[in-house]
Amino acid sequence: MTATTATQAADIVAALLFIFSLAGLSRHHTSRAGVVYGIGGMALALAATIIVAGRDTSAGTVALIIVAMVLGGAAGLWRARKVEMTQIPELIAILHSFVGLAAVLIGWNSYNEVESHGSAQTRIAHDLLRIHHTEVSIGIFIGAVTFTGSIIAFLKLSARIKSVPLMLPGKNALNLGALAAFLGLTIWFAISPSLGLVIAITILALALGWHLVASIGGGDMPVVVSMLNSYSGWAAAAAGFLLDNNLLIVTGALVGSSGAYLSYIMCKAMNRSFISVIAGGFGIEAVASSDTEQGEHRETSAEDTAALLENASSVIITPGYGMAVAQAQHPVAELTRTLRERGVEVRFGVHPVAGRLPGHMNVLLAEAKVPYDAVLEMDEINDDFGGTTVVLVIGANDTVNPAATEDPTSPIAGMPVLRVWEAQNVVVFKRSMASGYAGVQNPLFFRENTRMLFGDAKQSVEEILRALTRPDPQPSSTSRPGLRVAKQPTPAG
Ligand code: NDP
Repeated sequence: MTATTATQAADIVAALLFIFSLAGLSRHHTSRAGVVYGIGGMALALAATIIVAGRDTSAGTVALIIVAMVLGGAAGLWRARKVEMTQIPELIAILHSFVGLAAVLIGWNSYNEVESHGSAQTRIAHDLLRIHHTEVSIGIFIGAVTFTGSIIAFLKLSARIKSVPLMLPGKNALNLGALAAFLGLTIWFAISPSLGLVIAITILALALGWHLVASIGGGDMPVVVSMLNSYSGWAAAAAGFLLDNNLLIVTGALVGSSGAYLSYIMCKAMNRSFISVIAGGFGIEAVASSDTEQGEHRETSAEDTAALLENASSVIITPGYGMAVAQAQHPVAELTRTLRERGVEVRFGVHPVAGRLPGHMNVLLAEAKVPYDAVLEMDEINDDFGGTTVVLVIGANDTVNPAATEDPTSPIAGMPVLRVWEAQNVVVFKRSMASGYAGVQNPLFFRENTRMLFGDAKQSVEEILRALTRPDPQPSSTSRPGLRVAKQPTPAG
């Protein structure tokens, strides 16, 4: 077997391992195997690439590759060990930006290689040069859009900038204009390549990536993260064409198409238009703010909530990002056990985008050993709120916002939400009247049947548990537990 056949064989095996990895990662019980296949495929791909590089270049270059890999691997390992579960989406976003940057650098390098050596000394046949220049332009474009788009996603997800959508006048025309300009520049570049055009394409794509993601509101960020995942895959595939690396093309296409499909599924689940989201909120123009005066909210205490729960026949808990921040899942599981032992029916209603990554709540509840059969998806439980005595909204906000169904001008209008307000009593656990991730006020907090339980969710649940397990809990004297009327403070978020 020649060295080339051996590398081709390694490429095919690595590509198969990546496909097994994706298949494994799609189910809970096979996900560990999926990770192992992925690591195996990547190790094989790296080994084959280094062997090929060793054949074509000096030992010094191979040593440089190994030093870069050790440095990058060490930095990645350090970050992965330190990162909190709630920070995973922002870590993913920043990692996508690296893929985008790599594709831009590869495009620039590929242009430079042909310019400085001429096609005779490169592997590109003269009559294929125009195709090569087109590949350079497309690679740089997708990479640069991914780069700035991912940086904006990182800044929004880590709350370093506000998550509200940027609404430039004529934003759809700006995006379409940028696409048309890119097409024109690519044709020009293919016919008569120049450094000026490479710079122009790069700047245009950097600006478009920034604008696309800045224009998308907080509520749609889950789709943006998977969309950027898809873009990073296509950027890698474009780099594969430039580097003549088949494995990179296959892997990039796998990531690109699976990311696009995930975005599509998420859009369907959130009742969003796929085209609108991937085109930076295309078709959505600025709407008048629906932040009207909401009235007064009513506060309650842990003792009164305990009394309410003791007398309830059915309870639904809807967890959200705040439960993850407070790390309240263990006391929440304990509360579930305590109430179930007393004959109260306790179930969980999990929204598909509750928290900061798909499946976030399911993982936390499973970690705290909440029985699987008590954890229901939004569609399975949404019709049951009407017959429920108490709903505990623990650190959730956007996912239980009635404005999504009732206010067509709301930025989250049309997004399916958990209809918690249909229950007899709703207790909302949060620290203040601040809005949720989408930056939208929540009319739920001002409803007649809603009580706000302010404080850290973990401490509040622990206090309720203490009150429940005290020999003789003393509920307050009010007939409706916890009625304390307070003026609406200015939303902080
Ligand atoms: P939200 O972000 O809407 O609300 C979380 C609430 O938790 C806040 O109102 C906050 O209020 C409260 N909170 C924070 N810390 C604590 C604490 N220690 N104790 C008690 N409460 C706390 O969360 P949801 O889960 O309802 O909605 C998820 C949002 O995130 C959606 O907008 C979704 O689109 C978006 N998103 C989801 C992703 C996904 O893939 N799942 C990815 C990216 C974004 P306060 O500060 O007053 O305490």
